[in-house]
Amino acid sequence: MTRALLSIDYTFDFVADEGKLTAGTPAQAIATAIFEATRKAYQAGNVIVFCIDRHEENDQYHPESRLFPPHNIAGTKGRDLYGQLGDWYEEVKGDEQVLWLDKRRYSAFAGTGLDLYLRERGVKTVVLTGVLTDICVLHTAIDAYNLGYEIEVVADAVASLDEARHKFALEHMRDVLGAKIVTG
Ligand code: ZN
Repeated sequence: MTRALLSIDYTFDFVADEGKLTAGTPAQAIATAIFEATRKAYQAGNVIVFCIDRHEENDQYHPESRLFPPHNIAGTKGRDLYGQLGDWYEEVKGDEQVLWLDKRRYSAFAGTGLDLYLRERGVKTVVLTGVLTDICVLHTAIDAYNLGYEIEVVADAVASLDEARHKFALEHMRDVLGAKIVTG
């Protein structure tokens, strides 16, 4: 297996109307595309890594506490995957091709074992999906670039708060990180 699809933060708190830090409509609009891209990658034998924000309640030491309202708190529904992707995860969890990775920073590589996990499996290319295009997806792409991975971004399976932020991040990943922008 030389490819891994990273499924970033497609959770209730970031996507649902009642989510604590929701991107709302643009994030909900990719529900089918992110599910299809993930299922297709799984069927093709790719490693699937769910890279999911995990915060503690009232964590005064975490820099995001000054920037954002509390979100993706451990043990809450806010961390559940949203929509069809969540239903599908229930079917495949426990499979050795599928990993759930808790993260504490925007980047899925920051302070996690993700790089080792991917290297152990010979992964050379990471395929990015999820939200938000210009925050957790972009920061994960930057670390992937610095660690020497090839990067693909599934354009219709990433979303941000608005079109301008989404577009900026896609162009930055393409022009500055050498990412291949693909569609699901
Ligand atoms: Zn966070």
